[in-house]
Amino acid sequence: MAKKKRRGKEKLMICAACGRRVPRDKSVRYDRRVTYSTDLNSKDDIKSFHFIEAYYCISCAKAMRIFEKKKSKLMKQREEKV
Ligand SMILES: [Zn+2]
Repeated sequence: MAKKKRRGKEKLMICAACGRRVPRDKSVRYDRRVTYSTDLNSKDDIKSFHFIEAYYCISCAKAMRIFEKKKSKLMKQREEKV
């Protein structure tokens, strides 16, 4: 018998919101923007942006409206291209 590629052996991602383990194809990737700031109200204030890849399960993605955010992101990208 030929070995079938087994599903369910996929990499599991841990949901950043609830900690549930979800297979990669069922997780939703969302790049969160994190801001580092020295919080000095002066010219010396340093701010830097930095993106973290976060994975969420579908229910959390829905709850956090990630789908909507992704949609609006895509729309923005399209607008920029035109
Ligand atoms: Zn979750």
